[in-house]
Amino acid sequence: MFKCEKCGLCCQSISFSELYSHLDDGTGVCKHFDRDTSLCTIYHNRPLICRVDDAYEAFFQDEMTTEQYYEMNYAACRKLRRQRRV
Ligand code: SF4
Ligand code: SF4
Repeated sequence: MFKCEKCGLCCQSISFSELYSHLDDGTGVCKHFDRDTSLCTIYHNRPLICRVDDAYEAFFQDEMTTEQYYEMNYAACRKLRRQRRV
């Protein structure tokens, strides 16, 4: 299972992908993101594109291994953290 550290950075950076544009509150932050808790307010009903493991089964399982997919996602998390430090 993908290990999310719940930093909330991806939910505050959704303008990086047009797939998430319908969730944008106008500032690049998801309209379902709680800025006080840094958590998703619709976590149990969040879109498939926000569900790392479910999205793998739906879109990527024929394209790459689980390990490759997780590493791709962890790399994106690390990139967001690096950008925030700048
Ligand atoms: S950036 Fe990565 S670790 Fe942080 S909330 Fe998003 S998926 Fe989880
Ligand atoms: S729906 Fe939830 S998990 Fe998806 S981007 Fe918005 S706050 Fe993040």
